[in-house]
Amino acid sequence: MTGQDRLMAGIELGGTKAIALLARGRDVLASARIPTTTPDATLQAIGDRIEAWQSEHGRAHALGIASFGPLGLDRSRPDYGHITSTPKPGWRQTELVRHFGMRFGVPIGFDTDVAGAALAEHRWGAAQGCDVAIYMTIGTGVGGGIVVDGRPVHGLVHPELGHLRVRRATGDGFAGVCPFHGDCLEGLVSGPAIAARTGLDGASVGNDHAVWNDVMAELAEAMAMLLLTLSPRRIVIGGGVLQQRSSLFERLRQRTAGLLGGYVAGIDEDSLAALIVPPGLGAMAGPLGAIALAEDAWNGGGPVVAATAQNPLQNHI
Ligand code: ADP
Ligand code: ZN
Repeated sequence: MTGQDRLMAGIELGGTKAIALLARGRDVLASARIPTTTPDATLQAIGDRIEAWQSEHGRAHALGIASFGPLGLDRSRPDYGHITSTPKPGWRQTELVRHFGMRFGVPIGFDTDVAGAALAEHRWGAAQGCDVAIYMTIGTGVGGGIVVDGRPVHGLVHPELGHLRVRRATGDGFAGVCPFHGDCLEGLVSGPAIAARTGLDGASVGNDHAVWNDVMAELAEAMAMLLLTLSPRRIVIGGGVLQQRSSLFERLRQRTAGLLGGYVAGIDEDSLAALIVPPGLGAMAGPLGAIALAEDAWNGGGPVVAATAQNPLQNHI
């Protein structure tokens, strides 16, 4: 802690669970895991938890929400602050920013879970000092956030790196599990894809299982695409699938170097060892992502959505 870090609240909202936390910088004062059920029950339970912590630790200056998507991130559009077209039952068009803005009356930071994690890795973890950094998660889904000069990249919507189409490994006939695209990256290399390919739970697939030949070849295609399009200084890969599997990271770098064929100056297997890495923050990359978003909302003025009697509106917009 620097001593200047302000108290922030964060919510990492995932498809099966949410993590709520209160932190100063990367120092977590309190955190809790809350199951993701219906929007009403989940958001209420998260808010109650944060309120209870605040009575012990003091009021947070801002709140960050790092959520599963797709999300409305364009402040000029009516769907700003919403989860938009998710296939998750009951969650389509769920208002998040407005809900928590009304409840807490503080600036709200809002972005994808992976953009938050990218920001946290850039601020406190493995991507410090990197002008262009990417965080990818390979878990139940595959997703990626891109941070340039310390800010998450948005445009028309937000990056959807998990749904890139990659060249298939020679002889890989697996149809893929993405409900939208079949054999996009997520369809080929996510935890459920590995389970469908092997008939095994991901965690019980050994590092020497043949499935990794295709999975690593296809993930390397995505790495090569990202290196060629964005020229990142770091690609941080989190999520359950590659957690604690350093030998697979080595294979991934080897494959990636092979695909690039020595064309890009400075990228070879050796330099990739420092470029494609596990999260410096480990499993806290996601939750601390919400805190990083809260800090940015405080510093840059996230929207304050409503005033309440206890929390007079601060003009942060
Ligand atoms: P989520 O993506 O749901 O937030 P995780 O990142 O932990 O959560 O990913 C869960 C997925 O990763 C599941 O599909 C699970 O089977 C798979 N998984 C978890 N641990 C491992 C492991 N050690 N090896 C391979 N796959 C794993
Ligand atoms: Zn897809």
